[in-house]
Amino acid sequence: MAVIVQKYGGTSVGDIERIKNVAKRVIETKNQGNQVVVVVSAMSGETNRLIGMANQVSQTPSGREMDLLLSTGEQVTISLLGLAIQEMGAQSCSFLGSQIKMLTDRVHTKARIRSIDATVIQKSLDIGQVVIIAGFQGVTDEGQITTLGRGGSDTSAVAIAAAIKADLCEIYTDVDGVYTADPHVCDNARKLSQISHEEMLELASLGSKVLQIRSVELAANHNVNLVVRSSFNSNEGTLLSEEEPDMEKIVVSGVALDLSEAKVAIREVPDEPGICMQVFGAIAKANINVDMIIQNTGADGKADLSFTVPMTDLPKSKEIIEALKKKFDFTKTETDTDIAKVSIVGVGMRSHAGVAAKAFSILAENNINIDMISTSEIKISIIVAKSDGKKAMQLLHDGFELYDET
Ligand code: ADP
Ligand code: ASP
Ligand code: MG
Repeated sequence: MAVIVQKYGGTSVGDIERIKNVAKRVIETKNQGNQVVVVVSAMSGETNRLIGMANQVSQTPSGREMDLLLSTGEQVTISLLGLAIQEMGAQSCSFLGSQIKMLTDRVHTKARIRSIDATVIQKSLDIGQVVIIAGFQGVTDEGQITTLGRGGSDTSAVAIAAAIKADLCEIYTDVDGVYTADPHVCDNARKLSQISHEEMLELASLGSKVLQIRSVELAANHNVNLVVRSSFNSNEGTLLSEEEPDMEKIVVSGVALDLSEAKVAIREVPDEPGICMQVFGAIAKANINVDMIIQNTGADGKADLSFTVPMTDLPKSKEIIEALKKKFDFTKTETDTDIAKVSIVGVGMRSHAGVAAKAFSILAENNINIDMISTSEIKISIIVAKSDGKKAMQLLHDGFELYDET
């Protein structure tokens, strides 16, 4: 008997028929002799609908109220799935994050999981129930409801799999697995049968929302066997794995496009020790993740500083920079939301030279201007104009021959 955690995303539980389909799949897995824990997201579009309503009421909604609101989406799906499973003759019990003591820190709307009490889940499994758990939500020590950031149900599922020492964690979504590029954007993308944790971490952080980044981190740190599959067929999915020696033979494994970042540029920053610390210290204090940073050495002891932040954190970032502007006498601050980040990822880049040069020449030949560049051992990210984003991704995908040849 295996212990299996299955996570179903928004599209997979998008309407009543789909919820019944999930119930059937879950019962099948249980009838094969397994203990099953199901983690579900809100029905597709629901979290966006809730955010939209909140924004109509307030431009700066408080995190606490937002989390109470957003957590309702998943409460609807766990109970509907529970009813569907029971209607089909199996036993189940559904739980909110707080009911399984999914304890998090206090950072509303992007909380991190601290611990999970596995005993409630185990008791329910031991009496033959399918355990259904609301993804994306947790609770603080003080009993406040929190949410884990967009796409957070993936992280809930992997954290639960680690806590109950599950044999397998399956992420069921609307595509067959992890592809060389978003298959909804590049129609010649190829499904990968396997991808290393490191590459998946990069792809997830660079805009491939097929898995939330923290779910990949948790899977790697806690040795959770993680597979991405489709809830609409029984095709083999993509297995996340430790890096194997022959993985390096493949130089580039995938490309990603991220349209959710914005650029902040500060002109004529005093070129002296401690300025970056003050700017990025203040931004970090507001729990904003800075991605790319570029400093151009200027003249007369002044420099220009540019960086990117998630679009959703732009208003807060602007506020922080405006406050510092007075203190440090920056001449000008500018923001740009018209940017796209295209990235190429592959563990093979560690041992192959010339990947960046090839990427730049592909973009140059097609007249795509490069605004910012950042690299790590296994990735290259390039900021281009938003209008060039999709084209740039497709060109890099095809230029590195990632397409499906069939
Ligand atoms: P769910 O609601 O099931 O969590 P998401 O919408 O969060 O699903 O994630 C699945 C989506 O991720 C796919 O529909 C696809 O458009 C997108 N995606 C982006 N990059 C990739 C990739 N490299 N491989 C597979 N899917 C990707
Ligand atoms: N419902 C949440 C969201 O839309 C969590 C998730 O789907 O994983 O972000
Ligand atoms: Mg998701």
